[in-house]
Order: sequence, then structure tokens, then C-alpha cells
Amino acid sequence: MARNAKIKASSKPLLDGFSAQSIFEKDQGITYKDFLLLPGYIDFAPQDVNLETRVSRNIKTKIPLISSPMDTVTESQMAITMALMGGIGIIHNNLSIEEQAKHVERVKRYENGFIPDPIVLSPRHTIADIDAISEKFGFSGVPVTEDGTLRSKLLGLVANRDVDFEHNRSLPLSSVMTTDLVTAPKGVSLVEANEILRKSKKGKLPIIDKEGRLVALMSRTDLVKNREFPLATKDDLKRLRVGAATSTHPHDRERIETLIQRGVDLLVIDSAQGHSRYQIELLKELKKKYPQVDVMAGNVVTRQQGEALIKAGADALRIGMGPGSICITQDTMACGRSQATAVYFTAQMALKHKIPVIADGGITNIGDITKALAVGASAAMCGSLLAGSKEAPGEYYYENGVRLKKFRGMASIEAMEGGGGAKRYNVEDQKIKVAQGVSGAVVDKGSLFEFIPYLMQGVRHALQDMGHKEIPSLHKALYAGDLRFEPRSLAAQAQGGVHGLYSYKKPMIGAE
Ligand code: GDP
Ligand code: GDP
Ligand code: 5GP
Repeated sequence: MARNAKIKASSKPLLDGFSAQSIFEKDQGITYKDFLLLPGYIDFAPQDVNLETRVSRNIKTKIPLISSPMDTVTESQMAITMALMGGIGIIHNNLSIEEQAKHVERVKRYENGFIPDPIVLSPRHTIADIDAISEKFGFSGVPVTEDGTLRSKLLGLVANRDVDFEHNRSLPLSSVMTTDLVTAPKGVSLVEANEILRKSKKGKLPIIDKEGRLVALMSRTDLVKNREFPLATKDDLKRLRVGAATSTHPHDRERIETLIQRGVDLLVIDSAQGHSRYQIELLKELKKKYPQVDVMAGNVVTRQQGEALIKAGADALRIGMGPGSICITQDTMACGRSQATAVYFTAQMALKHKIPVIADGGITNIGDITKALAVGASAAMCGSLLAGSKEAPGEYYYENGVRLKKFRGMASIEAMEGGGGAKRYNVEDQKIKVAQGVSGAVVDKGSLFEFIPYLMQGVRHALQDMGHKEIPSLHKALYAGDLRFEPRSLAAQAQGGVHGLYSYKKPMIGAE
């Protein structure tokens, strides 16, 4: 006791760990598993943590999660789910232009405020035509106008309940449509129209001009969707937001034009090494021709690469070369960068330009998402973590009694044979294709409607542990040196995982 009493208390504040700068500016690249964040001070609950972020210059999301443009990850069902849950999905481009555009359209049509371009029929159309619409788009509420087009006089409305028990599908709509309609006048505000819709208790609210011509439609389902998914990522017209991938190849100019016509919100230039003349020229062209559409450029891993793309007009940067779960680039090509180091340096550079960076690849669990944010990313882009879910493309199958879905790299031989991956990895015209990815399978993750809230609740807890209520405050502490990091040894990593047990029940994927 006496000896201890003699030790002089230091006047320096007790600041354990290291700043990000001091751990990243070393001669070795590191990734998420190599370090931990030290805890901060908690004076709030996890539900007080706000995960709102920016995925590009003009697109905000309520959660920092993006699904990868991969053909076993993101098509319309995934993109709709991602947007409903508060993130965003990027439709892959291993598809024909028309197929990819249809996926975009499906997302854009899924939820609406006013539906400005509803499907309309004439009284001479038949119930079979309603069946065809229902099959293609998934809804059957169709306004009937004099000549079957928008801006023609509204005569009635056909809903599912008008036709579901009718055996004769060739009956004209004039004989089954409802003509006693509640309508709202053109110019009505969304809030007023919602009120009319609520009070009317009808499924649809046609909006008409003074001459009684149909100008738009509203659907009660959208009020329900808005209530059930309060975090949904939406545009000004209350439609879900969606991204889509494209290559830099000249023949994909038509793809870009089509995607934009169908309402894509975020174009992602999908390239494994984005620092190229092709990408810089494309960025400049896009920013001039379609300034209203945000463009995520990449992939890059150095400040120099990233700055060149920002100067050419990039609205977001996608960071990662080789960290992906299916990826063999670093070994095959000898080129790439350890992911946490790549995110840290590029984010620090992009901050000066106020451009968000997206940590793409190598995210395996809640901890990795949190660490990506802690080293400067504004969001995490995930492939394998979201693959195998009900909403990912493909059917489930069983192997050794385990329920699986296929998951493959876009530069696996299998995906390159499909076309899109070859463009991304610049091997489209080459006779000998060197694979930079593998194909395999991932286990069933159930539905993302349960999995994503679980992941995000985990991230909220993690931010709470660090004493941060929101992502911008985490980033502020990162650059001020107040967010404290500590590298960990291999033994520490082993101790940080489950150890010493004969057997145990694995936690849900994403928590390991
Ligand atoms: P919110 O009430 O938090 O959703 O605030 P917003 O600014 O998103 O919405 C403003 C108004 O638009 C509110 O009356 C919402 O109920 C309504 N609204 C939001 N999303 C939708 C939608 O997808 N469809 C319809 N019909 N109304 C919506
Ligand atoms: P319905 O009653 O069979 O028409 O279908 P729901 O009302 O359950 O769902 C219609 C959903 O599709 C809503 O979210 C609409 O915003 C959306 N939607 C998008 N475009 C259209 C359209 O042209 N007509 C209709 N009826 N709905 C559309
Ligand atoms: P994951 O989240 O599965 O770890 O990584 C997904 C990311 O890996 C994608 O967003 C994309 O950037 C990258 N990726 C997808 N396919 C391939 C591939 O075949 N090779 C390489 N090198 N990267 C890929």
C-alpha cells in the first residue's frame, strides 16, 4: 500500500489504445479481424442509436446496408426487401438490358404515393386482360377509361373482387367494373389524398381532372406499406429506391439509357479495378448527360484511384479489391489491398470531397459491419451475408441434409459464361478467361425481414458500446483520434471467439 501511494498519478488523461492513424499508417495492411475498438461511455439505449447514412451524394438511407450486384444476390425481390428495410439493393447486370430494366421497374412500381402511370384498360378489354396484368405485375386493380389510356374519361374500376369468382374470362370489363367511385381532384396533396383514401375505405383512389379524365391512381396498400416499413428508402414520389450495375463498355450505353428511363436511382459502374480511362470517360459523360442520377464508381482501394474518380464526377466510391468471400483476386492477380486499410485511406480522402465510401466485400458479421463504419465507410455492401436468404435469387436445395442456395463470384467461370462477370473483370473478349472468383453455396438464412433487423440491432448495440449515437459522430471521433483502436494478436483473436467447449449451439449467422 505504502509503495503504491508513492507512485505519482499521471496528469495525462487516461487514453488507452491508438488512433486510427497510428494503426493504419504502418507497413502492413490489416482487415476487420485484426483490430478491436475500445469501449466509450454509454448514457443512452441501443434504440437511441440512429443508423441513418448516405450511400451516395444525394441518396440517404436509414440503415448502412447495400446488397451487392451479383447474380446470386440482387434481383428485384432482394432490392424491394433491401429498400423496405431501409437500405438499398443494386440489380446485377448479368442479364439482358430488358431483363435488368424489368427488375428496376418492379422495384419502382412496388410502392407509390400517387401512381402517375397506372395500367389502364378500356371497357372493351376482357377479364383475361386483367389476368395477364395480374400475372405480370402482381396487382389487379385497374381503372377503366373510355379509350383505355391515361388522360381519357374515367368510366369505372375493376378490382380483384369484381372478377375472382367469374368463370367466363372473356366477359368485357364494361360488364364487371364498379362505376360508383370515390375520386379526388387533380392537384390534391398526398396527405389530403391519403385522408380521402382512408375515409373511403376503398382499395383505390383515382385522381381525375375537371373533365373527369384520369390523371393518376392511389392504392390503399401503399398506406399499409408505409406504416409497416417506416424506414423504407424512397424517392420524392414515395417509390422505393433502387440501384443497378453497368459496365463501362460502349454497348452498355444503351443499358444505362434504358435503366434511367425506367427510373433507376443509383447507377453503379461495376468494375474490379475502377481507375481506368474507360471509367473516367464514362463518369464525365454520365454527369453531363444525366446529372440527376447518382453514380457509384469503383472499385478502388487507394486514395489516388478514388480521387481520380471523384474528380470525374463520382457520387460515391465502392471500396474493395479482393476481400470478397468468393474472391481469389489477391492470390491470382497479386493486386489488391487489405480491406480495413483500403476503407480507412479512401474514406479519409473522400471526406474532403464530402463523398461517401462504401466498404464492399469481406463482411461476415455484425462486427465487420461496425468496423467498416468505424474506419470511415458510410455503408457496407454485402454479398455472401445476404445470399442464401429467401429473397436472394435461386432455389433452395439440400446437400448432406443442409438447406443451401447457390452463391458465386461474378468472375467465377460459371458467371462469366453468363456474360456480366466477364465485363466487370475485363476478360469479355479474351479466349482464355482467368477466374477471379469461385462458385459455391451458402446456407439458408431465412427471410431478410427478420435477418436485417437482427443485424442492425447488433450494430446499434455495437455503436452504443463505443458511446456513439450515430454514424456521423463515429466518423467525427475517428478523424479526431478519439475513437480508439487496438490491434490484436492471433491468440487474442482466438480468445475472442468461442473456445474450450466440447460442443455448443452456433449463434445466428452474422453474430459469429
Ligand atoms: P412519414 O409519414 O414519416 O412517412 O413522412 P413522409 O414525408 O414520408 O410522408 C408524408 C406523407 O406521405 C404522409 O402522409 C405519409 O403517410 C405519406 N406517405 C409516405 N409514403 C407513402 C407511400 O408510399 N404511399 C402513400 N400513399 N403515402 C405515403
Ligand atoms: P390490387 O388491389 O390487386 O391492385 O393490388 P394491391 O393494391 O394489393 O397492390 C398494388 C400495389 O402495386 C401498390 O403498392 C401500388 O402502388 C403498386 N402499383 C404500381 N403500379 C401500379 C398500377 O399501375 N396499378 C395498380 N393498381 N397498382 C400499381
Ligand atoms: P462478400 O460480401 O461476399 O464478401 O463480397 C461481395 C463482393 O465481392 C461484391 O460486392 C464484389 O465487389 C466482389 N465480387 C463479386 N464477385 C467476385 C469475383 O468473382 N471475384 C472478385 N474478386 N470479387 C468479386
